[in-house]
Amino acid sequence: MSNSEHYDLALVGGGIMSATLGVLIKLVNPKAKIVLFERLDKVALESSNPWNNAGTGHAALCELNYMPDSKDGSLPDPTKAIDINEQFQVSRQFWASLVEQGILSAPETFIRTVPHMTFVRGEKDVDYLSRRFESLKAQPLFAGIQFSKDPKQISKWSPLIIEGRAEETIAATFIDQGTDVDYGAITQQMIDWLAKKSVKIETGVEVKNLYQYQDGSWQLSLGGENYQRFVRADKVFVGAGGWALKLLQRAGIPEIDGYGTFPVSGHFLRTDNPEIVAKHQAKVYSQAQVGAPPMSVPHLDTRVVDGKTSLLFGPFAGLNPKFLKFGSILDLPLSLRPKNLIPYLSVALKNFDLVTYLIKEVTKSRNQKIEGLREFVPGAKAEDWVLYEAGQRAQVIKPSKGGGTLQFGTEVIAAEDGSIAGLLGASPGASVAVSVMLDVIERMYPQQSASWLSTLKNTIPSLGRKLNSDSKLAKKTLTDTARVLKLKA
Ligand SMILES: Cc1cc2nc3c(=O)[nH]c(=O)nc-3n(C[C@H](O)[C@H](O)[C@H](O)COP(=O)(O)OP(=O)(O)OC[C@H]3O[C@@H](n4cnc5c(N)ncnc54)[C@H](O)[C@@H]3O)c2cc1C
Repeated sequence: MSNSEHYDLALVGGGIMSATLGVLIKLVNPKAKIVLFERLDKVALESSNPWNNAGTGHAALCELNYMPDSKDGSLPDPTKAIDINEQFQVSRQFWASLVEQGILSAPETFIRTVPHMTFVRGEKDVDYLSRRFESLKAQPLFAGIQFSKDPKQISKWSPLIIEGRAEETIAATFIDQGTDVDYGAITQQMIDWLAKKSVKIETGVEVKNLYQYQDGSWQLSLGGENYQRFVRADKVFVGAGGWALKLLQRAGIPEIDGYGTFPVSGHFLRTDNPEIVAKHQAKVYSQAQVGAPPMSVPHLDTRVVDGKTSLLFGPFAGLNPKFLKFGSILDLPLSLRPKNLIPYLSVALKNFDLVTYLIKEVTKSRNQKIEGLREFVPGAKAEDWVLYEAGQRAQVIKPSKGGGTLQFGTEVIAAEDGSIAGLLGASPGASVAVSVMLDVIERMYPQQSASWLSTLKNTIPSLGRKLNSDSKLAKKTLTDTARVLKLKA
């Protein structure tokens, strides 16, 4: 066995998380010797691929699950929504700086203004949305949000959702600082830059196993078509998406004990019909059905990929034991361990509504999905829309006192010695990749991270400060990033 290849850092997986971490590390430590392994033939083919996710720049401008209703009819608490928005501003600043440094190409190749709307029906949800609006309208990061119950006004924001709609109680909010983001393009462009900076990019190579040497470094056992190879790395980041659980289990670090993954599959309906596409320039989110997993509630989205505009409706969630779209149906059974059995069972029992919802959804026919679309687009014709498979979401099952809890956020798992870390979970996902990778840096490089701060502040000027508590800074940051990224301020 030869370990002649020795790296400072090995990145496992060619998605937005590894790409972001690679760029951050190269910016603070240009001499770092880095390798990236991707099991598929190209990078950005799993969740980060533009057709596998919804491309929403999640800033909690329209997603109700980040700001659930209060129990007593008072104004809903905006804390979580503000926190998600703060994280998205970190991403916006980072991407803007990468454009200025020539690391990312022209902004229109990966981001554009697409207003974010929330649309609700029925007295109860209309009341909730109006209180959500009252709670958000004075928050600096949500400046410019509008509310209306008037179908004529809502029709100006999105003709498609009003055309052919019977009279009913409806309301919507609209904010034009929303974005549509091609996370696949960002991933590809970052990885192209890493390759130019001598990062070794190996596609078609799967990391099969991880073994820690006594000096704390790691041996990565690699497999591809008909070969096996070993390399050594001082530090490993497992950015393997849904397969992060499997690799962290194989690494044998105690921090992963008790964790599991709850896979949720997805399908999107898509139309490229220019007449329909022209009637909708927004991302419209709505209220979840009972048991629906957050972020799997269908929404109607303008998507721009490779300069072409389409509309997506979805994702329709479902049950599927794979942890990646190109994973294996054995992913779920093979992830079971004595230490996560109880968390898995308790999550299944505690989330009976969710399991029932997913079973119901997975058995829905295409026609039933079109019926779901008609709740948003009353005049939708089945022949205009094609159904296709989206990416696979791998939600975190976290061990807890009562057995296990299903989480809808992301969770960084890091070994105590900082030599290996990985990322579990899928939401808010790619939008907050920069904040999550900054957290990874603190966990993996505790000694260096303080000295790297000033370099990082060159790319993320507001780092360490809360924009929403400083309206002038919030406005300046939104305006500055909008100018560079060619977005509406
Ligand atoms: C249906 C859906 C809708 C979504 N919508 C949004 C949205 O609107 N906005 C948003 O911000 N986020 C969204 N997300 C979440 C977002 O897509 C993900 O959080 C993000 O892309 C995850 O990036 P990643 O790099 O962790 O994983 P991935 O992009 O999945 O990349 C992981 C990579 O690791 C590779 N890999 C795995 N195992 C190995 C191994 N052993 N060796 C080598 N390579 C390996 C895989 O092949 C893959 O390329 C959505 C996700 C889904 C599924």
